[in-house]
Amino acid sequence: MTQNRTPKNPTPKNPTPKNPTPENPAPKNLGHLDVLISGASVAGPALALNLVRLGARVTVVEKAPELRGGGFAVDFRGHVHRTVLTSMGIWDEIHARQTHMGRQTVVAADGSPRVDLPAELMSGDVEIFRGDLAQLMFERTEADVEYVFGDSIASLTQDADGVDVTFEQGAPRRFDLVIGADGLHSHTRRLVFGDESRYLRFFDHYVAGFDIPNHLGLDRTGRVHSEPGRAAVIGNYDGDPHRAGALLVFRSEELSYDRRDVTAQKRIVAERFAGFGWEGPALLKALEEADDLYFDAIAQVHVDRLVKGRVALLGDAGYGATMGGMGTGVAVVGAYVLAGELALAGGDHRTAFAEYETRIRDFAKGCQKISGNAGPFLAPPTERRIRNRDRMYRILGSRPLARFFKKMTEKAATGIELREYPY
Ligand SMILES: Cc1cc2nc3c(=O)[nH]c(=O)nc-3n(C[C@H](O)[C@H](O)[C@H](O)COP(=O)(O)OP(=O)(O)OC[C@H]3O[C@@H](n4cnc5c(N)ncnc54)[C@H](O)[C@@H]3O)c2cc1C
Repeated sequence: MTQNRTPKNPTPKNPTPKNPTPENPAPKNLGHLDVLISGASVAGPALALNLVRLGARVTVVEKAPELRGGGFAVDFRGHVHRTVLTSMGIWDEIHARQTHMGRQTVVAADGSPRVDLPAELMSGDVEIFRGDLAQLMFERTEADVEYVFGDSIASLTQDADGVDVTFEQGAPRRFDLVIGADGLHSHTRRLVFGDESRYLRFFDHYVAGFDIPNHLGLDRTGRVHSEPGRAAVIGNYDGDPHRAGALLVFRSEELSYDRRDVTAQKRIVAERFAGFGWEGPALLKALEEADDLYFDAIAQVHVDRLVKGRVALLGDAGYGATMGGMGTGVAVVGAYVLAGELALAGGDHRTAFAEYETRIRDFAKGCQKISGNAGPFLAPPTERRIRNRDRMYRILGSRPLARFFKKMTEKAATGIELREYPY
């Protein structure tokens, strides 16, 4: 079933100025561009929001039948994120909907505390649920953007003047540009750049996230329990007395499974967590009932090119990193830079895509660099390594080291110089 959300205020066509420069930026000069974005999570709606500000006509196609909820809290940190989100007009709204995660405690199987992790280690300047962020950007764009849910690109054929697109459900259409913002396992990337086995680096762990009743009575705090090769985190981010979020991480060889088959994914997680102590039985019961399961490999995307002709990759599709790689912050900055470069180039995709690729590549790499250890850190492979990890947590929890750790992540999050864009 496809559900079309046609724009209430179609954007008028604007003339393109001849020679826009950074000193003399073009006004809303993308009125001649028809852009198709694949994926409506974070990167897709963020790009849509920036493009419509510049006058472009935007269609977003999303495979899911409706905007997807769920996902853990994501955070923003440093002046680059602040500048981008302020320019996009959503900084205050993110604060209005923010979560407030406090201390996280590593616990033994009987629930007794082993070591505390201070809040500043885990969160950025502001934190919001991924689903709330997606919803917020969707609300801000739905009047101007055509959202098509329950459909997917079937084929893409580029020529000198545009891209012919066929869809699994809808009628074929032609666009000026196509942007793949369809995540770690991007379908657009597979169609245009080749199979994901060339680009996806697997980090020996899987992660599952879902909601769980807040039966531990947590109030903006979290608990972590690790057994060799397995870990469970239960966290209450927003003070809801009834709900908490669960995150299960396990070490594994690479698995082959159907990503559309949620029941099969639940079975995999349940098998891997059989006999897990602490809250194991309650977690498995909540997993069985979950209607918002997020399950994926802990992996990173490394492509040689982010652009090919009139097609570009954005967010996780081009430079994703599951857990800790600030994927959401990089996606939002990438969307801002991509639309901004198109405006500076007066819609000339060759110039704009080349600039986008150059500017975002190193920034994204810097953020990916600090993320590779999430799996072994949460789920060390042996009891001895778990004890070593806890010792390290104790040291990290000391104020000066916490500040150092925070600085390191902030350095990655601010590792890009933003140009003046004509927003
Ligand atoms: C429901 C959900 C829960 C998540 N939870 C977590 C989490 O707990 N921890 C974590 O580290 N990361 C999580 N992520 C990933 C996180 O959102 C991203 O790392 C980051 O925000 C960058 O976002 P993105 O928009 O580039 O990619 P994603 O957020 O992965 O979004 C990709 C979007 O593209 C859509 N899509 C996929 N294939 C197609 C297709 N063929 N056609 C059209 N659309 C398609 C997907 O349904 C999705 O909406 C989650 C993502 C989703 C969608």
